[in-house]
Amino acid sequence: MQTDVAIVGAGLVGATAALALARQGRSVVLIERQAPEQHPGRLGADARTVALNPASRTLLETVDIWPGLRVCPYQSMQVWEDTGTAVLQFDAADARVEALGWITEVSPAAYQLWVACEDNPAVTLQAGSLTALESGVDGWHLQVGDDRIQARLLLAADGAASAVRRLLDLDVQVFDTGQQALATVVQTELPHGGCARQRFLYDGPLALLPLPEAQGRHLVSIVWSQSAEQATRRLAMSDGDFCAALTEASEGCLGQILAVDQRAVFPLRQQLATDFAPLPGVVLLGDAAHVLHPLAGQGVNLGFEDVQAMVSLLHGVPRSELAEPALWRGYARRRRLRSRLLLRAMDAFRVGYAQRAPALQWLRNAGVRGLGRLPPVKRSLIREALGLGPVAGVLGIRSQTGHRT
Ligand SMILES: Cc1cc2nc3c(=O)[nH]c(=O)nc-3n(C[C@H](O)[C@H](O)[C@H](O)COP(=O)(O)OP(=O)(O)OC[C@H]3O[C@@H](n4cnc5c(N)ncnc54)[C@H](O)[C@@H]3O)c2cc1C
Repeated sequence: MQTDVAIVGAGLVGATAALALARQGRSVVLIERQAPEQHPGRLGADARTVALNPASRTLLETVDIWPGLRVCPYQSMQVWEDTGTAVLQFDAADARVEALGWITEVSPAAYQLWVACEDNPAVTLQAGSLTALESGVDGWHLQVGDDRIQARLLLAADGAASAVRRLLDLDVQVFDTGQQALATVVQTELPHGGCARQRFLYDGPLALLPLPEAQGRHLVSIVWSQSAEQATRRLAMSDGDFCAALTEASEGCLGQILAVDQRAVFPLRQQLATDFAPLPGVVLLGDAAHVLHPLAGQGVNLGFEDVQAMVSLLHGVPRSELAEPALWRGYARRRRLRSRLLLRAMDAFRVGYAQRAPALQWLRNAGVRGLGRLPPVKRSLIREALGLGPVAGVLGIRSQTGHRT
């Protein structure tokens, strides 16, 4: 099988890249070892969720996925810590946007993307695992089961443990955070009111992210970062004990935690590939290129930025030049710089909030109160975080959607 572009991995990033490239008139083969399934838990929602920012929404609108996506918008965000009284509050109205972001469940979103790829005549879905790779004069040759695919351009969107990186012996820096994320869905006594909440606890942040109501139940998605020992202990707790522990850890901000769904634990490592376009005709996207701590909910948004930047770069490029190293050099440098900045910012937050010295706690609380008294500074910070500010513009990631700004 011959194609312009072969994409390994039909996660959120790879499947979106396939649809965006198909819109550009490219032929795409999308290789995936495991077709996505929808996994609603006992409470009616998937345990894994992601927070999408306005730039990601714009991309998903472009590939026609947004209208069918089940999302819960959040208009405010509250951040506070276990020791201290100051609450950092961000409001969509302050930044003059309709919402700060949208929470969506990963499995249904991946499933919807998969179906859209199936229906797209320019995309061929290839089920199976990539097992071998070699380069030739006519591009890359990929082995998937008994099938052989020849592609001009090879995009690795196969996640944190990328098979493409392993097969090509490509370097990646790994920064272990010593933490694990416990993810689940819970039913709360009080409604979330469209607010995403995060409390910094001694051994990691606890996020309570709003989900749509299901059968009259108030639901939130939990991402609780903590030490491996604590995660193992909390995974083994009875549902009742876990709900009680979570009510206490969240300071009862949503009243009692009434019920909990299945719990899953994810290791938390940050990763950065040494080169995002390491060989002629090979480009790394999404978690294959960078993995971020989920504390600011930026991982998949950064992957969608890769897709947007790549598609813009390839606009009008003839098929014969898709693999030109000169084309990808600047792209790889800019995307890696942006990823490294975010990776460092996540580390600074994580380490900064873990400092228990009284002087540092006072400084953090004073800083949060000071920010509350400076609305223009706060507005600029929110707009940059949403990809709507001037710095985002310089880095080429500004959301193109004018009507919400
Ligand atoms: C607990 C938690 C909470 C998070 N919360 C947020 C959030 O709020 N906001 C946010 O932006 N991000 C968040 N993230 C990060 C986000 O989930 C990831 O960045 C994103 O899902 C990565 O998408 P991807 O498509 O790059 O990779 P993946 O989702 O890992 O997809 C890779 C795909 O490649 C396939 N594959 C792998 N190897 C092969 C092979 N050899 N052959 C064929 N196929 C292969 C896999 O089956 C998979 O489908 C969170 C992460 C965690 C762990």
